[in-house]
Amino acid sequence: MKIAFIGLGNMGAPMARNLIRAGHQLHLFDLNQQVLAELAELGSRISESPKHAAQGAELVITMLPAAAHVRAVYLNDDGVLAGICAGVPAVDCSTIDPQTIREVAAVAAQQGVVVGDAPVSGGTGGAQAGTLTFMVGASLEHFAALKPILAQMGRNIVHCGDVGTGQIAKICNNMLLGISMIGVAEAMALGDALGIDTGVLANIINTSTGRCWSSEMYNPWPGVVQTAPASRGYTGGFGAELMLKDLGLATEAARTARQPVILGAVAQQLYQAMSARGDGGKDFSAVIEGYRKDTQV
Ligand code: NAD
Repeated sequence: MKIAFIGLGNMGAPMARNLIRAGHQLHLFDLNQQVLAELAELGSRISESPKHAAQGAELVITMLPAAAHVRAVYLNDDGVLAGICAGVPAVDCSTIDPQTIREVAAVAAQQGVVVGDAPVSGGTGGAQAGTLTFMVGASLEHFAALKPILAQMGRNIVHCGDVGTGQIAKICNNMLLGISMIGVAEAMALGDALGIDTGVLANIINTSTGRCWSSEMYNPWPGVVQTAPASRGYTGGFGAELMLKDLGLATEAARTARQPVILGAVAQQLYQAMSARGDGGKDFSAVIEGYRKDTQV
């Protein structure tokens, strides 16, 4: 299949590689010429604009930093909608607010083009291994068209509802993750300050009612989970800056819905404080450093 793939960064490039490996012919576009040159060596077509990439494509996939880039890539004069044929499906895999993708989809619908959202979880490791989870917001018919291709980049392809619901699922889950990590950090730091061995405490939590993914798989105390970023200096995980971005999307979506997200807003401020002191590049579990007496800032 001829697939336009736009946005070839840390996530997009390995996703595109998986599609090339699966035998698809890719029309690639990114502002970064270096990444385009690398992927061109694998036999893909380099495009001059999103419009050019979409021309002749049978599917369009975008993977961009934020909402402003998604608007520009679809709606500008040289954007996707200027080049795509009616009836060709498109899907945006970026993490953005639900409202933006709904607005882009509404504009696309006027010319017979269906745009859905499919944000991912699984990080760059999942993108490379082809094991991402896609949270898809699309009609059932659109979902059926997208699923076989998404399955070549991911393991779990979940239909969440109509366009925008993929983003809703993503920001609600990540808000909870951000909050639960802070809860685990507080409990682990308190236990240490009061004098219990942190390994013993983690075992108790993980067989008791406090157990959650942040305590069990990704515990923020160094050495508790050998494979967690905490055990390798908070490197190579999910950066606090990305968590901050997702919490910003959640609190902004909550504001528009007049829905209180009290803990989500507090969590946002804690990750913002991390970012402000220059720790935004660390894994988000390093939020515990603000609680530990030996690392407090
Ligand atoms: P990135 O910054 O590494 O890559 C974005 C790419 O988009 C860059 O190559 C950039 O040059 C390109 N780009 C920007 N504006 C463009 C434009 N107008 N036209 C064409 N290309 C343009 O970001 P990433 O880490 O790949 O993340 C992409 C999306 O996935 C984000 O929305 C992010 O929140 C989400 N996400 C990232 C991760 C992760 O672990 N990195 C995990 C889950 C979801």
